[in-house]
Amino acid sequence: MNITPLVAGNWKMHKTPSDGKSFVSEAINLLLDIEYISVIFSPPFTGLFDMDVSPPFFKAAQNCHWQDLGAFTGEISVPMVKDCGASYVILGHSERRHIFGEMDREINRKVHAVLNGGLKPILCIGETLEDRKAQKTADVLRKQLIEGLSNLTSVNNIIIAYEPVWAIGTGITAEEDQIKSAHTIIREILFGNFKDIDSLPIIYGGSVKSSNAGTLIQIDGVNGFLIGSGSLDLTSFISIVNCVEQYQMRK
Ligand code: PEP
Repeated sequence: MNITPLVAGNWKMHKTPSDGKSFVSEAINLLLDIEYISVIFSPPFTGLFDMDVSPPFFKAAQNCHWQDLGAFTGEISVPMVKDCGASYVILGHSERRHIFGEMDREINRKVHAVLNGGLKPILCIGETLEDRKAQKTADVLRKQLIEGLSNLTSVNNIIIAYEPVWAIGTGITAEEDQIKSAHTIIREILFGNFKDIDSLPIIYGGSVKSSNAGTLIQIDGVNGFLIGSGSLDLTSFISIVNCVEQYQMRK
């Protein structure tokens, strides 16, 4: 399988546009040799426009609406984030699902909107601790995948982020075998529904830090990371990116 790993920093509601712009320019200066992976910065909407990136560096929005325009106060559309130079949109993040009540059906409409707009969705899925304790992890992942990717015939341009909810922002990283097994389940579910999953990146998110990135990237089936708090500090983010780059270079 020839998949370019991705390291995506999700800043959530952190960094003003000027903080973000200088962070990105410093990060890129420190990562000039990156060759084997893609690096994604995901600022709040306000920071998206004024950040200069070029491949292998990209920008992502953290959400979008499924309509291109209209009377949807407070929402932002795919053409708007595209015009800001974004290449990716994070969708279905656990904070969107659990704080803002986003449902798989809406997330599916957004996936379609992002693909139709020529951008790439990073579809986040993951079980809660309750689901895991009740041994419902596979069922939850199946539901989120099947409903989130409903009415699609291909997974081309899609990225799946496996993010166990209990590992997000908690400092608790999932165990290696839990991550490996979830990534295998995801690939198996998709294998039954799509013909082109060989090039689909499945990235892991949940308390990835500079101290564990080197181990986590070696787990079978992990094609990179979605990082929250570890992406906010320059030294930490650079170190995670370098871990993944070096691992991929040696492969
Ligand atoms: C996230 O928000 O997607 C995330 C993985 O956060 P953290 O790295 O802080 O756990």
